Amino acid sequence: MFWRRRPTEPDQPAEEGGVSDAAIEAQLEAEFAEAEEARTTAQAGGETPRPTDGEPADGDLVAGVARSRGGFMARLQGLLGRGDPTAATWEEVEETLIAGDVGAALALEVVERARRRRDGAGPTAAVREELTALLVDREPGWAPHRAGPDAPAIILVVGVNGTGKTTTIGKLAFRYRAEGQTVLLAAGDTFRAAAIEQLRAWGERAGAPIVAHGPGADPAAVVYDAVDAAVARRVDVLIVDTAGRLHTKSNLMDELAKMRRVIDRRLPGAAPEVLFVLDATTGQNGLAQAKAFHESTGLTGIILTKLDSTAKGGIVFAIERALGVPVCFVGVGEKVGDLLPFDATAFVGALFG
Ligand code: GDP
Repeated sequence: MFWRRRPTEPDQPAEEGGVSDAAIEAQLEAEFAEAEEARTTAQAGGETPRPTDGEPADGDLVAGVARSRGGFMARLQGLLGRGDPTAATWEEVEETLIAGDVGAALALEVVERARRRRDGAGPTAAVREELTALLVDREPGWAPHRAGPDAPAIILVVGVNGTGKTTTIGKLAFRYRAEGQTVLLAAGDTFRAAAIEQLRAWGERAGAPIVAHGPGADPAAVVYDAVDAAVARRVDVLIVDTAGRLHTKSNLMDELAKMRRVIDRRLPGAAPEVLFVLDATTGQNGLAQAKAFHESTGLTGIILTKLDSTAKGGIVFAIERALGVPVCFVGVGEKVGDLLPFDATAFVGALFG
């Protein structure tokens, strides 16, 4: 679904081809009305409305981290389970943590702290405690910030192409729709025509309308229109896709900064969430990307995708420590329900098995 800006509206960034399309706008209107009606009916009947594409079963965290549990964690537990660890064993523990992508400095820290513990709980429990302590403090059940009860939560999803950004937006849209919230998608990656189409397909599946301009359009103009539509239609959650090409990093960062300015102007105090999608299989490279994004855009959360495809789930500890920003969701598969809210204790528990 494409929703183009009316050229007569004041105070909007210039954009080529901003032709009014009444039929398309009417369709957007109808989609919103349908979603709202479903919500009202469901609320009246005390049930939770679901997206049209069947109910996504929640993925399984324990199964999702099976590779990591069977990989570096199995080795770690083998080492720690041998009884009182020697200095050589602790060194092996450190190497195993590094092999699991925890990172050299953190691995050393965990081992030193675990060795110093005198609580009699044993080396496995000590390492488990120290790993848990690396994760940043968080409120249980992350939810995106809203400036007020009627203001939409705005989520900018950023990251490098191929990390699973679009799939994750689709999964998020499903999740919020399943909770009975209205969701609007904004096709802010105007660089790739395929990205707009892919997002549109997800929107249709999840029952979330999409605001999109043509390929090559100014992403900030897309965001402007999307915020406008979200406010006018009292949407609960607006999720914005963004371009993720690496080779023009400074342009990309400028583009993101411009989107934020547009949001601030249109909806002061909106404080959009900026969620970075990190592909868990990219290890330390991904970490460097995350740092670059964090420095220039100020990330508010991380979505770690493809945790199911790596044996090095230790990246969770490394990313939180490197950025001081919480992991909000983890992707544990390609199915729509395979995006799970991150629970630090459950995650460490699943790693240890
Ligand atoms: P984008 O270029 O960043 O938008 O990436 P896509 O959303 O197109 O995803 C790239 C590939 O990663 C697709 O094949 C997705 O199905 C896959 N993918 C995304 N998230 C996950 C995940 O959590 N686990 C697995 N195994 N695959 C995923």
